[in-house]
Amino acid sequence: MSGIVAIVGRPNVGKSTLFNRMIQRREAIVDSVSGVTRDRHYGKSDWNGKEFSLIDTGGYVVGSEDVFEKEIDRQVELAIAEADAIFFMVDAETGITGMDEDVARLLRKVEKPVFLVVNKVDNAKRREDAVEFYNLGLGEIYPISSINGSGTGELLDALALVL
Ligand code: GDP
Ligand code: MG
Repeated sequence: MSGIVAIVGRPNVGKSTLFNRMIQRREAIVDSVSGVTRDRHYGKSDWNGKEFSLIDTGGYVVGSEDVFEKEIDRQVELAIAEADAIFFMVDAETGITGMDEDVARLLRKVEKPVFLVVNKVDNAKRREDAVEFYNLGLGEIYPISSINGSGTGELLDALALVL
């Protein structure tokens, strides 16, 4: 398995928590376009001995607390250009938001593999809540808990089939 996987989604869904759980080492930023990579973190991960690169997007915009919708769209466009597969993360605690619907609309047009990762599925109740996300029209859902790691094995098994 090789390739690049980008994690996208609105703020606070748990992108960085998953990134930090999955990476073995951070990579130096090598992008030559200044300003592009400041708000993205790169790392190396592996699954069953096969390496892949992971990109965590968002949350690194210097001096800004607000993340505007336009910025999330930009991150999604960058991910589409740069990655071989996309983890679109949503949050079972909050449910579907308008921003999720906007990102889903962008991702439905993408030819690359998109995995709809429903995070914060920490218990059985949340697992029931997670089925709501089928309404985003992106096919299968991958319920996970970035905090306790449940579901991440199934997600990575599915990823391994496309990388
Ligand atoms: P990001 O903005 O998408 O990168 O989200 P963060 O990784 O910074 O996480 C936002 C908040 O969600 C933090 O308080 C995390 O501890 C929390 N969080 C992340 N993953 C989980 C999870 O699987 N379950 C629960 N209950 N909380 C989580
Ligand atoms: Mg983050």
